[in-house]
Amino acid sequence: MNRTRIYPLLTATHRYEKTVSTRHRGYGVYIDAPIPAYLIETPNGRILFDVGCDYHKIVTPELREQYLEPMRPTFEVPQMSQTQRIPHYLQALGLSVADIDLVFLSHLHFDHAGGLCDVPGCDVHIHHAEVAAADTGEVSGIFEDEIADRDRWKIQHGDYDVAPGVHAFETPGHTAGHMSLFIELPKGPPVILCGDAADLTENLADEIAPGYCWKDREAEALASIRRIKQMGTTENAELWPNHDFDFFRSLPAFPAYRD
Ligand SMILES: [Zn+2]
Repeated sequence: MNRTRIYPLLTATHRYEKTVSTRHRGYGVYIDAPIPAYLIETPNGRILFDVGCDYHKIVTPELREQYLEPMRPTFEVPQMSQTQRIPHYLQALGLSVADIDLVFLSHLHFDHAGGLCDVPGCDVHIHHAEVAAADTGEVSGIFEDEIADRDRWKIQHGDYDVAPGVHAFETPGHTAGHMSLFIELPKGPPVILCGDAADLTENLADEIAPGYCWKDREAEALASIRRIKQMGTTENAELWPNHDFDFFRSLPAFPAYRD
C-alpha cells in the first residue's frame, strides 16, 4: 500500500525584489517568500527535497557579512530561527537525520543546498549539469563551502525514478541542471514540486521565466515551465511553485501533511 506523504517545511523566509522571480517584471517591488523544503515519506524510504539555507551564515555576524549582506538590496538576508532547521522538524516527528535516506537537490543555490550542513552523511542526488556549471565558478548564488562534498554525491544524468512513485525530471533554465519532482500520493492527486523552475503561481499561469536564468537561457526556462504544465495536465497533478507565500500558506502546516 502506498503510504506516501509530503510534509511542507518552512525553513526560512526571504524578502527580495520580485523581478528575481519574474523576468522583466516586478522591478522595485519587494515580496516576502518562503524558503521551503519538503519531507517526502514513502514506503521505500524518506526523501528531503531541498534543505534550505545554512543557518550559520544567517546568525553569525561575520559569515552573514561575508556571504549574505553583499546580495542586498536585491535580496535581504533571509530570516531563519533555530526551530526552522531541518533536524528540529525531524525531531518533532520522532526522527533524526539518520532516518533520511536521501537528499534530492533541485539545484545548488544557497537557499536550497545550504542546509546540507544540518544533514551530514545523507546521500545527495544532483544533476551532473548542475555540478558542471558550479565547477565553472561563474554561477552566482552558490557557495563553494556548501558544495565541497560534491565528489561524494550521487550524480544523475537525466529523468529518473528516485523511488517508486517519485519521479525526477529535468527542468533546466533557472540553472543548468535544475530538476523537479513528480510524486504519486495515495489519496490526493499527484504533486509536482516545481522548485525554482516556477517560484510563483504567476510563473506558471502567465508562463513567465524566472528572473535569473543560467546564461540568460530564457527559452529553456520557458520550455521547462511548459513541461511542468504539460505533465500537470497529463497526470492530473497539482503544481507546487516554490517561493510563493500565498500558495505555501494554502498547504498543510507542519506537522500536517499531504497524502
Ligand atoms: Zn534558485
